Amino acid sequence: MSTNIIDTKKDAEGKNKSKIYCTFCPSKMLNAGAARLINMEFALPYIHSKGEDKANQSEVILNYWLVENMYTFENIGVSHTVDNIKYLACADCDRGPVGWHDLSTQKSYIALCRVKHE
Ligand SMILES: [Zn+2]
Repeated sequence: MSTNIIDTKKDAEGKNKSKIYCTFCPSKMLNAGAARLINMEFALPYIHSKGEDKANQSEVILNYWLVENMYTFENIGVSHTVDNIKYLACADCDRGPVGWHDLSTQKSYIALCRVKHE
């Protein structure tokens, strides 16, 4: 995703301008202004449905929405936990991971390229 496209998704304070949805179903994850854009290198496993065994392959993603508090989410699910990381998935269709939750800091990160902005 290019820097120009990413810039259109944040407001002057770096918060998400639009609501954030699952790309596969109508489930709403975050309201506008609920998260802050950060640049961070993190390897996220590829999207898969529950039961598919592709969790061992991952891609490095650089742009995430930082969510300080888990209760900020409108809807979010957990796909699986590895060490201190809970991978986050859609609460309704279970597709994911769309991001991850750090159990030691309690912060959550949603990959811009894995969600829909509307
Ligand atoms: Zn969904």
